Amino acid sequence: MKIMPIAPVLTNCASTGILGPMQDRNFDIVIIGGGIAGLASGYKIALAWPDVCLAVLEKEPTLASHQTGHNSGVIHSGLYYKPGSAKAKTCTDGRRQLVTFARQYGIPFEICGKIIVATRQKELPGLERIYNNGIQNGIEGVRRIGPEKIRQIEPACTGIAGLNVPCTGIIDFVAVANKLAELIQKQNPDNKILTSHKVVKFEKEADRTGVLTNQGAITTRFIINCAGLHSDRIARLDGVEAKMRIVPFRGDYYDLKPEAIEKIKNLIYPVPDPQFPFLGVHFTRKIKGGVECGPNAVFSFKREGYGKLDFSFTDAWESLTWPGTLKLFFKNWRYGLNEYVRAFSKTLFVKQLQRLVPSIQKADLIPGNSGVRAQAVGSDGKPIDDFVIETHKNAIHVLNAPSPAATASLAIADHISGIAGEQFKL
Ligand SMILES: Cc1cc2nc3c(=O)[nH]c(=O)nc-3n(C[C@H](O)[C@H](O)[C@H](O)COP(=O)(O)OP(=O)(O)OC[C@H]3O[C@@H](n4cnc5c(N)ncnc54)[C@H](O)[C@@H]3O)c2cc1C
Repeated sequence: MKIMPIAPVLTNCASTGILGPMQDRNFDIVIIGGGIAGLASGYKIALAWPDVCLAVLEKEPTLASHQTGHNSGVIHSGLYYKPGSAKAKTCTDGRRQLVTFARQYGIPFEICGKIIVATRQKELPGLERIYNNGIQNGIEGVRRIGPEKIRQIEPACTGIAGLNVPCTGIIDFVAVANKLAELIQKQNPDNKILTSHKVVKFEKEADRTGVLTNQGAITTRFIINCAGLHSDRIARLDGVEAKMRIVPFRGDYYDLKPEAIEKIKNLIYPVPDPQFPFLGVHFTRKIKGGVECGPNAVFSFKREGYGKLDFSFTDAWESLTWPGTLKLFFKNWRYGLNEYVRAFSKTLFVKQLQRLVPSIQKADLIPGNSGVRAQAVGSDGKPIDDFVIETHKNAIHVLNAPSPAATASLAIADHISGIAGEQFKL
């Protein structure tokens, strides 16, 4: 069913001082967030309902400026995730769709495979658990390997046991995001990708919503919130008090110097600690060249704070006054402290890397990029592991889309598009 565009622009916006010159900007659906989740959702909705007129609003001047543009660039296989979870289902499906999409549109990618390596006896049960998940999740070609095979695949790596995951790959997620944006507009020329549009407020009326941005008001019938690090705030603007809060965790990377790159062939990962939703510092060959080492996971005092000393009073206050954050810190203070110290000590960071590749030296590393993860934490102090999508009247809120949401984006988007079809009666 076609949704008719709505004519009037909000009448009370001028008094807020936010509204710029009257603009004729009325849409059926407004998606907030020009990261990969928002753009993939827009793409799938545009494919399914070409007559629906939609806009993607992104506060930054360029798309994919936050998590999507600051991640490891890995196409995850799907073997880490609890069988039956949304992550497990969407990661494998999303990976296959992503590879087909990248082939079709000439996005740089490579299925280079990865190894997960146990270096200590106590990691063996964790390795076995991941292997079993992989089998149950139907991951193609995953197999156990011993020390010899580890060396054959990655000559500089030592471990007592490992897994070979041949279907893991690397990709340029920013290129994927930009291609999705192009296709959204191609599908319906009335669709708009509006960068430098920060959503600051909603004005709700019976059958439409005024979305107030720093560049004036836009009206829409439906909203999809894919605002990543700010998704809980956007939900609150819509009157949704989620039982979770986004707590930002920064991850720092080092780059291997060109003369050390030869030490790493593809991707080498440790066995992750099952208590935390992070995979542990790893070696990642990048699709554009070079090798990254990281990321660690350090509480960030700023949601978009990419520097070690970045601070925002509002962000820090919101995180630290959430009861779950303090419970999380209290329960895991030793882990948190170690991560903090490692963030400032290259020597300790290198020691962690040397568990996997003993020949890595401090002199091989130069400071690289960093990223900030939007990690939802419950009021009980537990990091929420699975994707969380909630509906509220005329809105869909993507409240938790942590890794591997970039890999899974096209499958998550199928899900969101399905919900939109039902909830919005498209
Ligand atoms: C360090 C790190 C490494 C990772 N590695 C991988 C990996 O290798 N593979 C993988 O699959 N996943 C990985 N992930 C996870 C993955 O990057 C994210 O799950 C995914 O990018 C989430 O996409 P998103 O669109 O939800 O969020 P984002 O990419 O953060 O996009 C949200 C967008 O919303 C915009 N926005 C926010 N507020 C507003 C507002 N008020 N108005 C308008 N716009 C707004 C932001 O500017 C932003 O562009 C990693 C993440 C991090 C941080």
